[in-house]
Amino acid sequence: MSAPIKGPLFLTNTLTRKKEEFVPLRPPHVGLYVCGPTVYSDAHLGNVRTFLTFDILFRWLKHIGYTVRYVRNITDVGHLVDDVDHGEDKIAKRARLEQLEPMEIVQKYTNGFHDVMRLFNILPPSIEPTATGHLIEQIEMVKRILATGLAYEVNGSVYFDVLKYSSTNKYGELSGRKTEDLIANTRDTEGQEEKRSPLDFAIWKKADATHLMKWPSPWGEGFPGWHLECSAMSTKYLGLTFDIHGGGMDLKFPHHECEIAQSVAADGHVPVRYWMHGNMLTVNGRKMAKSEGNGFTPEELVTGNHKLLEQGYSPMTVRFFMLQSHYAGTLDFSNAAMQASEKGLARLMAAMDTLGNLKPTGTGSAEVIALEQRCYAAMNDDVNTPVMIAELFEGVRLINSVHDGKLSMDAEGIERLRELFNTMVLEVLGLKNEDESKNDDGVLDGLVKEFIRMRAEAKAKKDFATSDRIRDQLKVHGIELMDTKEGTTWERV
Ligand SMILES: [Zn+2]
Repeated sequence: MSAPIKGPLFLTNTLTRKKEEFVPLRPPHVGLYVCGPTVYSDAHLGNVRTFLTFDILFRWLKHIGYTVRYVRNITDVGHLVDDVDHGEDKIAKRARLEQLEPMEIVQKYTNGFHDVMRLFNILPPSIEPTATGHLIEQIEMVKRILATGLAYEVNGSVYFDVLKYSSTNKYGELSGRKTEDLIANTRDTEGQEEKRSPLDFAIWKKADATHLMKWPSPWGEGFPGWHLECSAMSTKYLGLTFDIHGGGMDLKFPHHECEIAQSVAADGHVPVRYWMHGNMLTVNGRKMAKSEGNGFTPEELVTGNHKLLEQGYSPMTVRFFMLQSHYAGTLDFSNAAMQASEKGLARLMAAMDTLGNLKPTGTGSAEVIALEQRCYAAMNDDVNTPVMIAELFEGVRLINSVHDGKLSMDAEGIERLRELFNTMVLEVLGLKNEDESKNDDGVLDGLVKEFIRMRAEAKAKKDFATSDRIRDQLKVHGIELMDTKEGTTWERV
């Protein structure tokens, strides 16, 4: 028998716009699907926020006792420029610009994406399927939709018939849109002439002779529509109906709306029970975008090498900063907010160090039990990381009070507090003590300082042959000494 779930967990379901108790279909199993990246360019910080949101959900579900199958796909075909049904494939365009094979582009940016995920300690999913690896499943799904009469073929392309579908189903329910308004708002755009209605979307597109990424199908050579892969892969790995589907808010329409329509049309099942959407990241109040010049990469953020950055910020500072706001709200990036997070994280980590050596004094542990309950309550309330972090700072206050002898706590209370901090800070929030990873440099720093002291001694005795030799030998080993007004410093060269 498995351990009881430490719940109940409540999640805001964007389909019903209500906070609902989360009850999985087949406990203790949970199926979680999150739309992954289109691998045609470097991930930016807004992407990191989305994947971090679901990383925390994944970690929390596991922590409270569920067995989670987390599927996060890699889009490596079918996502067209401008997110519509015409124009070049984003990956094929990049391949042309960089003069590489499309699959070289896919590999290059998939590797880069994984590096970024590791940098921010975002856990890998259980399955990371690719669109090109599931063409058979997608073609089969197109066949099933055609068989119900909810799609039609024109000249080698297959389109989903939105108006016919919405006569018996609620198209637009997730994003809160009405088909009449959608039609009124569509402009005549290129490549729409084959469609019965401008709302229809391609589930299979005919490829012309110059198209780089194409496969044979019953309708001729072509490629799948972008929305189709998520439906085909979530069905394959999580079943016709599964528990949670997540993604960035910008994917709600049309992408997720189309996913629902495809699954209902192909298999007669509403695919998802709880929809969750992460909000955007803004920079100094403006949406983060490459065109705005504020879409800095994670690497630029860490090195501080961007005109909007006053300094570099460590990956854990970035992670902590993002978790200090709730996933459903917008989050504004600014140097002031980042610097405050840097201080806050340092305070939290210092308290964990103190906690490691804390000695029991007298009796009492009631405050720890109450704190523990409030941490679980915060996380079970729609994964409220900012409230949980505020509670952890209450814990920091307890730790420092016991340390200063102002509060008594018995051994059991201290052990429980350690367990709580290790669980919440390291396992659930996924924060790491970055000073520990710098330990190698700490030893090196001590050694170089010893050489600097010996060199100063030699100089004081006017033994310049020795002082120069120390400097030159360090340089051979990649360490450069710099004499400044404040004394001698060093750096790696
Ligand atoms: Zn998707």
